[in-house]
Amino acid sequence: MKYISTRGGMDPAPFSETLLEGLAPDGGLTIPERLPDVSAEILEGWRGLDYAGLATEVIGLFATDIPRDELARMCRDAYGPENFPTAGVVPLTPIDGGVTLVGLSEGPTLAFKDMAMQFLGQALEYALARSGRVLNVLGATSGDTGSAAEYALRGKEGVAVFMLSPQGRMSAFQRAQMYSLTEDNIHNIAVAGVFDDCQNLVKALSGDLAFKRAHSLGTVNSINLGRIVAQVVYYFWAWLRATDALPVADRGDFEVSVTVPSGNFGNILSGHFAKSMGVPIRRLVLAANENNVLDDFFRTGAYRPRSAADTHATSSPSMDISKASNLERFVYDLVGRDPERLAALWRELDGPGFFDLSAELPRFAEEFGFASGTSTHADRVATIRAVHAATGIVVDPHTADGVKVAREHVEPGVPMLVLETAKPAKFPEIVREAIGEDPGMPEHLAELLGLPQHVTEMADDAAELRDFIAARAVTP
Ligand SMILES: *Cc1c(COP(=O)(O)O)cnc(C)c1O
Repeated sequence: MKYISTRGGMDPAPFSETLLEGLAPDGGLTIPERLPDVSAEILEGWRGLDYAGLATEVIGLFATDIPRDELARMCRDAYGPENFPTAGVVPLTPIDGGVTLVGLSEGPTLAFKDMAMQFLGQALEYALARSGRVLNVLGATSGDTGSAAEYALRGKEGVAVFMLSPQGRMSAFQRAQMYSLTEDNIHNIAVAGVFDDCQNLVKALSGDLAFKRAHSLGTVNSINLGRIVAQVVYYFWAWLRATDALPVADRGDFEVSVTVPSGNFGNILSGHFAKSMGVPIRRLVLAANENNVLDDFFRTGAYRPRSAADTHATSSPSMDISKASNLERFVYDLVGRDPERLAALWRELDGPGFFDLSAELPRFAEEFGFASGTSTHADRVATIRAVHAATGIVVDPHTADGVKVAREHVEPGVPMLVLETAKPAKFPEIVREAIGEDPGMPEHLAELLGLPQHVTEMADDAAELRDFIAARAVTP
């Protein structure tokens, strides 16, 4: 299996090479030359596998350049009990109204990013060793994405992480989670400034190509194809577990629908891959919050990204995105995998700032199964309260967006799965607003609050950051 660019300007490359690059060299995104097909028979044959075993099979269809025994070891390590103490790794939990939660936040940072990042940490270490390269990850976080990267890359050979966070603006728990890490290759830097200042520092250093090359700077952001591929696994897993109780003869093409709380379109893109590969998914329902650019796209066919200034800060903050970086990979399929047409659409984004595919809108649902909806703060509060009243279960605000939109798309006889993208413990404020109680913190995480913290405080100063990185970056 080889990988090419959505915009057509890249020589086919093997999987492990795509892990180390951000964008494709022509500014597009890497995609598989074609998606693998999984027959009903093969799918049924995977039913007895545990999560790591299933991950080896599914990822193995994409990562054909990684030896099978090596890949199996990576999946065992990524999805082992040390990272995912919950039996089964991804538990399915029915709630009320024909909806079932798919638990993707059992990992070390209590959010679904762990599912992909833990595999990527393993795969990066392998790809770096094989190519004799190193990677110094430079990132900025307002709390959540940085911690998943740190937990995935801590202690890995050939990698260091330099993670900027705004001084005094993270919750006590977020600080404890990141700053309590003791591995030498993890560098937490608290910048005297806000999140945008941190991001500007990252841009300043990454934009200096000489510095970037000299210190092998890179990112592990949401367009990384390794993350998309690792996320495909749990769509297979969820379908298998949702159909376990059916008589064998009824399983084959039994359809489920899946609702995905979405921001950068990474998670649901993996669902689109899984459906295209043969997982019987009827509807892929995109749930947006008040930043509903993608809901607009799936209802009208017109895509109008908004600027950061027009992006609301909401109570489901990980979905506060108005320019969905992974959408390009879906639109590529929508335009018949035609790189020239795709590139023309993205030129319209650079020019007028939008493109209009409304002429093809019926195909969004008919051919690809997409549907969408929007959820607001009031919806989140009402949904957290209603699910708690009906079942005693507390969902986090992102999952609540999913449940709210899912309920609008439930069809008789079709199980509706909602991907649970985070644990409520991370969002105590809205939980208190909804049910008048604290969500509670798992015991092993509560202990983090008492551990010594390792963080370097720094002025908002690019020169100081350069020196810091130059002195500590891993070298080949
Ligand atoms: C990242 C994130 C999302 C959005 O996922 P995308 O892949 O960006 O669409 C939703 N919920 C939570 C909790 C997240 O961390």
